[in-house]
Amino acid sequence: MDFGRINVGSYVEIQRSDGRVHQAMVTALNEDSESVTVEWFENGETKGKEIDLESIFSLNPELTSVSSDAGSEPDPEMPPPATPSVKAGRPGKTRRTMIPLRNEVPVKESRISALPVRRRPSTVMEQGVVSAPQNGNHGEGSPAGAGQLGKKELPGQQQQPRRKSNCVKEVEKMRRNREERRAQHQEIREKRAQDYDVSYPNWEFLVMIKEFRSSLDYQPLCLSDSIEESRICVCVRKRPLNKKELGRKEIDVITVPSKDIVMVHEPKLKVDLTKYLENQTFRFDYAFDETTTNEMVYRFTARPLVETIFEKGMATCFAYGQTGSGKTHTMGGVFSGKTQDCAKGIYALAARDVFQFLKQPRYRQLNLQVNATFFEIYSGKVFDLLNRKAKLRVLEDGRQQVQVVGLQEKEVSNVEEVLRLIEMGNNCRTSGQTSANAQSSRSHAVFQLILRRAGRMHGKFSLIDLAGNERGADTASADRQTRLEGAEINKSLLALKECIRALGQNKPHTPFRASKLTQVLRDSFIGENSRTCMIAMISPGMSSCEHTLNTLRYADRVKELGVDPSVPGVGGAHSPGDAPSVSAPRSVGASPGRDDLKILCEQNEEEVSPQLFTFHEAVSHLVEMEEELVEDHKAAFEESIQWLEEEKTLLEMTEEVDYDVDAYASQLELILTQKLELFSTMQEKVKAFRAALQDEEQASRQIGGQRRPQA
Ligand code: ADP
Ligand code: MG
Repeated sequence: MDFGRINVGSYVEIQRSDGRVHQAMVTALNEDSESVTVEWFENGETKGKEIDLESIFSLNPELTSVSSDAGSEPDPEMPPPATPSVKAGRPGKTRRTMIPLRNEVPVKESRISALPVRRRPSTVMEQGVVSAPQNGNHGEGSPAGAGQLGKKELPGQQQQPRRKSNCVKEVEKMRRNREERRAQHQEIREKRAQDYDVSYPNWEFLVMIKEFRSSLDYQPLCLSDSIEESRICVCVRKRPLNKKELGRKEIDVITVPSKDIVMVHEPKLKVDLTKYLENQTFRFDYAFDETTTNEMVYRFTARPLVETIFEKGMATCFAYGQTGSGKTHTMGGVFSGKTQDCAKGIYALAARDVFQFLKQPRYRQLNLQVNATFFEIYSGKVFDLLNRKAKLRVLEDGRQQVQVVGLQEKEVSNVEEVLRLIEMGNNCRTSGQTSANAQSSRSHAVFQLILRRAGRMHGKFSLIDLAGNERGADTASADRQTRLEGAEINKSLLALKECIRALGQNKPHTPFRASKLTQVLRDSFIGENSRTCMIAMISPGMSSCEHTLNTLRYADRVKELGVDPSVPGVGGAHSPGDAPSVSAPRSVGASPGRDDLKILCEQNEEEVSPQLFTFHEAVSHLVEMEEELVEDHKAAFEESIQWLEEEKTLLEMTEEVDYDVDAYASQLELILTQKLELFSTMQEKVKAFRAALQDEEQASRQIGGQRRPQA
């Protein structure tokens, strides 16, 4: 039997049933079954396996017989072929012969990431197993490699007898090491068991998560990592556990092992009540762990978009997530107690760089003016945060240009001025509320930096602190106000997702009319020079697990379809003359907003049940009617004042001795006819509106028993 260069004690690459490739130590050569027994250390345990020689050689071609390696010198690194005395015929898990390879404490550079999404195949290792450089030069440069096992001999030491005795010594030394290490492991394990605080309500899960983490190779994002220029960038940011969560001894179920991976360790119970973790892995453009600062998040998310607006483009950056996950902290600035340091938020950091860019010679000559707006979209209505929360109307003209009528645009010339505006807006946003989050969680806050050149728009940067996504499930609430808010949030977040996807795929139709949010941001979703970034914020606690998974799934959908425009066939911006796609049927007479809603719901069938769709339709109808009714009422009110003036004049006329009775009667009749006409129209409208209110209520009851939708 030719075992080539394989010996007891040598290291070989093995492939696991799940596809992972890592190193293991040969503990026996099995002549009979033409196989070798290998062992390795994993998650605090020795594992073993018998592998046929053929598989070993196919993974480790450099270990095939020396003679086949024609013309080459015998490798001084390799001990001679095994002698019968070291053969251990026992197949399988011969734990007895396990040689502890190294300390059990994680050694970062040489770990396997047991991730479904593999990035660095074969050169990374599982816990406690040594990594081998790909050239097969075992152990060189790795901390536990050459010194212990594959020790290189000097050229003069190549004679056979000498090598043989060295080998025996080496094996003995390894055996001694092994025993020592084993004792150490045991000690560490016992100590660790004491570390686990059983007062944690979920300590078993905590133990499992810690075990899992100890097998990971952490390679977090670094300042020096390259910044990708993509049209759509989707990232995730995990915040640290907060005081409340720590007080409750909540466990952290999120791991960010590398710069683009986030893992959720979802605690689960089997039917027999055994606890286990379901680990789910997501990949985004960047993943920020709990130690990441706002400045760093900014560097990889919004900062790359600043240039876009100087190059006549549109940029948007969204903070998405559940209430309390860190959206406002990221966008608006770091809180210390109740005061927020606006200078440390993405709004201010973006403003800082906008003013920096302005100073560059090539942009300085453009004489650009920087303006800022700050408004809030709450339940489909727009409120100006820079103008005492004035309610504003959104109008779309014949050329589909959307306008927020009367929105204040304040000119700013330095960061301090921007900070003052942000503070003003923030105060306005939260005024009269006991808890800032109670209200802000139901509204989207939009902060914009607009570049104008001689009054004309040059570029626009919109930074949006979105409403808490969990509020999208409030559609089944018993309270109408809450329901309508929930519906609008659910709808706007779905619309946002579809609009970004449409942007990524250069789709000819963008369903921006489905919500006020997307309508207001319409110009950012169209056009060749639009770029967007979404930061999905997640809370680390176990109690947030479900919301966290919803957030990650949503973000995943946004990115998953973010097709690279350079890919042939999907790239290239469409021109306005392009034929509309089949996905944009427009029934005559129907509201375009509701058409878009329909498209939206069709694209999200899993999340939007037919009942929810009916409900959304009812709500959209209701909201449209409400707007119309209120507008009509305002007009009727103005008109009534006119009539009152006219009637006053008429009545004054009757005081005169010889007034014109005919004129009086005909004038009065005219006024009354007009009034009757207007009032009956108004009456019809208000009746229809009340019916729509009832429809909405009915539709909401239909979804009451359904699974709560998540935007
Ligand atoms: P949201 O706007 O998503 O509802 P907040 O930004 O208000 O959430 O954050 C909720 C709480 O968590 C705040 O007290 C905030 O200070 C804290 N927080 C959020 N993100 C972080 C972070 N990355 N580091 C430290 N604290 C954070
Ligand atoms: Mg907030």
